[in-house]
Order: sequence, then C-alpha cells, then structure tokens
Amino acid sequence: MSEPDIHSGFRQDDERRFETIVRPQNFVQFVGRPDTVSNLKTWIQGATLRNEPLDHILFSGPPGLGKTTLAYIIANELGVNIKTTSGPALVRPKDLVGLLTNLGAADVLFIDEIHRMDVRVEEYLYSAMEDFFISIIIDPGPHGRSIKIDLKPFTLIGATTREGLLAPPLRSRFQILEKLDFYTPEELARIIKNSARILNIGIRDDAADLIAARSRGTPRVANRLLRRIRDVAQAGERDVITKAVAEEGLARLGVDEIGLGEMDRKILLALARNTRRPVGLKTIAAVVGEEEGTIRDVYEPFLIRHGLLERTARGREITPAGLKAIRDYVDGPQVEQNGLF
Ligand code: ADP
Repeated sequence: MSEPDIHSGFRQDDERRFETIVRPQNFVQFVGRPDTVSNLKTWIQGATLRNEPLDHILFSGPPGLGKTTLAYIIANELGVNIKTTSGPALVRPKDLVGLLTNLGAADVLFIDEIHRMDVRVEEYLYSAMEDFFISIIIDPGPHGRSIKIDLKPFTLIGATTREGLLAPPLRSRFQILEKLDFYTPEELARIIKNSARILNIGIRDDAADLIAARSRGTPRVANRLLRRIRDVAQAGERDVITKAVAEEGLARLGVDEIGLGEMDRKILLALARNTRRPVGLKTIAAVVGEEEGTIRDVYEPFLIRHGLLERTARGREITPAGLKAIRDYVDGPQVEQNGLF
C-alpha cells in the first residue's frame, strides 16, 4: 500500500500516538496564537475564582492547528478530567447521554468535528449546555412520558473545520468562540525544534526553518514532516537533522518549495486541465481519488490562502499563480507518471 499523503487529513493510530507524545501540555509549551491564549487564560481564571465551570467553547479552523491540543490544555489548567469524542461517533442519543451522565463537576467534554453530529443527538445537547439537564423520552406517543436527568455542571468544548455547518441553536449556546488560523514559519520552526527535543533528535536552525517553510502553516504537517525526516537522518546514522538531511527528506516526500504535496498537485492539475470553466468538487474528487470533505477541509484552505485556487459559486478555478506553481509538473515527466493527462 502506498504511504498516505503527508498532508492528508487521515490519521492512523500510530500517528495519534505520535501526536500525543509531542502535544503541548500547558500554555507555556503552546506556540503562537497569543490572543487566543490570553483570552483563554482570562476566562479560566475568572471561572476558577468564581468556582464555576468554564463557559462552553467552540474552536473553529482547518485541521491540525491545535483545537484538540487546546482542549487538553484547558482541562489541564482547570485541573479537571476531559472526555473526548467526535461528531460522527455520536450516532444515537444514548451515545451522548452515557458520556454526559459520567462527567464529574466542572469536567470537560470535547467533541471533535461537532458539525458532523446527528441532529437527534444535537437536540439533547441544547438543554445539557444551557441548564445542565437532559430529558429522555421513555414512552413516545400521545401520552408520552419523559424523565429528567440532572447533570453536573460541565464545559463543552467543540471543534469544527466547518463552522458554517453548525446549526444556529447549537452555535449560539457556545459563549466563547475562538477561530484558529494558519501559523507563521517562525512559529512552526519553534514547534519543530520543541518536537525534535522531545523526540531526542538534534536539528539545526536552518533545517527547522526549511521544514517550517514547507509545512503549509500547519503544526500537524510540521510534526509529520519532522517525523519522516528524522527517519531519513537515523537511516543514515546521523543524530542531527542538517539542512541537507531536511532537503533530502522533503524531496523524498515529494514536498515542494511552497509546501505542496502530491495531492495538492493532483488537485491543481485536475483544474489546470479545464481552465475554461469552473470544476465541481465532485469531479475533482473523482479525478484525484480523494474524499470531497478531505479536499474541501484539508487541502483547499491552504491552496486558497496562497492564491492558487479560487472557490466560486459555480465551482473551483485555478489561478495564474496556481498554474505557475505546477508549471514544471505540467511540462515535465511527472505528469505522465500521475496519469492525469
Ligand atoms: P486539530 O485538533 O486542530 O486538528 P491538534 O490539536 O490535534 O489539531 O494538533 C495537531 C498536532 O500539532 C499535535 O501534535 C499538536 O501537538 C501540534 N500543535 C498544534 N498546535 C500547536 C501549537 N500551537 N504549539 C505546539 N504544537 C502544536
């Protein structure tokens, strides 16, 4: 089986374990986002002084920017337990009820991809978030009966890559909304150096800067690249990542100078074939062999941010900068290898 794309939204168990190892445990270790961190510290301090649970928080932004990390840090700073789940895992109301009734006072419930929760489950969250109770219908029909279950006051932290898909009644129940955006190369270089320290491998400053510049503004990508490049260093029996090692690793991974990987290029090539009219997401997905949601949430935000692709009402279009970015591939032998032309 071929290696998953370095930028893909897809994470295997082994990658989750790796992320847990390099994940910052507190605000000091969390790099960047000074405004978000300062806001969160203030809300945490206030809640702690009042001896109340922290208000519900919604984090939004592309994948890999630190939403889950912040949820863990918040629970840590509050000194409470955190239970985690995800929207797609909450299929039946009872999945949610089980989690809610097991929360201790002021605990954190983290729901990743909260926009993908079933609507029937979502309705149970409304009273849980607002007044800390749930009503369970035990006898549906005209003489239906329901029982009310009181919950301990808790904090819900939701994370979403698509805030626009959240139903207004759910969105309005979050008192704190924090948007996460792409990181600067300097911030990413700091993250890479911190992770290298945890992984017990040396890294030169110029190597960290190089990897940072190609990490698409995303800490998860930076850590993934570092992990693969560490393998390259260790395979050559070197215990320091030099710029030459980083260059070799990046070339092996097919990551180019602006951080585009194989899938980004496939997407741009699919659009380059058809510059006369916009191309729908479904068509792109079929051509490149990736899920629509992954293309929209994982790949496109970076391509749009860098002015390589535009979303229009009628579909996606490649920009002149996008064409320029893949010109070598359009002209070169790689195109044949991709089988796209
Ligand atoms: P999200 O939940 O937004 O998809 P995560 O919180 O799982 O992203 O972060 C992905 C990876 O990037 C983790 O390994 C995490 O430790 C790292 N990371 C994210 N943000 C930061 C940051 N600000 N400082 C250091 N590491 C970070």
